Amino acid sequence: MNERRKSLELLNSDRKFALFLDRDGVINRRIVGGYVTRPAEFEFLPGALEAMSIFSKLFYPIIVVTNQQGIGKGKMTEEQLNEIHSFMKEEIRKAGGEIHAIYHCPDLKVSHSTCRKPRPGMALRARHDFPALNFKHSMMVGDMISDMVFGHNLGMITVLIADEQLARKHPMLIDYRFNSLYDFAMIISKFDVQEPPKK
Ligand SMILES: [Mg+2]
Repeated sequence: MNERRKSLELLNSDRKFALFLDRDGVINRRIVGGYVTRPAEFEFLPGALEAMSIFSKLFYPIIVVTNQQGIGKGKMTEEQLNEIHSFMKEEIRKAGGEIHAIYHCPDLKVSHSTCRKPRPGMALRARHDFPALNFKHSMMVGDMISDMVFGHNLGMITVLIADEQLARKHPMLIDYRFNSLYDFAMIISKFDVQEPPKK
């Protein structure tokens, strides 16, 4: 963990933090070497639905930012991805949680697209859609170093969902590390965050 590590006490400020979440390997099981191409292949990780329900009381907005170069590779279509995301949102909603926006980057890694994490394109789109967003008042949760670079470069608190070995290699990028989204939710739920101001 790093020296500039920001205290989670920050969450006790008078308005809610925004939560940026990576998808694969955080909310659902990542298919190594492949892609989730339909809802039947989308498997929530243990405790992820409970975690999303906890987050909905603590954060606003809750935003998923996901690289999906499977589209660029022709492994799936935008329509298939929309179906998967409708399924994900509905299951989360049934469990008492909410996702306010999902941004995906369909472009290939080799394209050096500005929307692909670690580049900030998806965060900038989110700020366009949620003008009150302040990245310094935001957290980024992901399972890859590219997620941590994305969050770190924008001034967010970064949370890695991975084993300690990966965290140890990149101490300056990572503020917190947990084994699962659920473990993170358990810790964060101990903070008493105020209601956001009415719009
Ligand atoms: Mg991931």
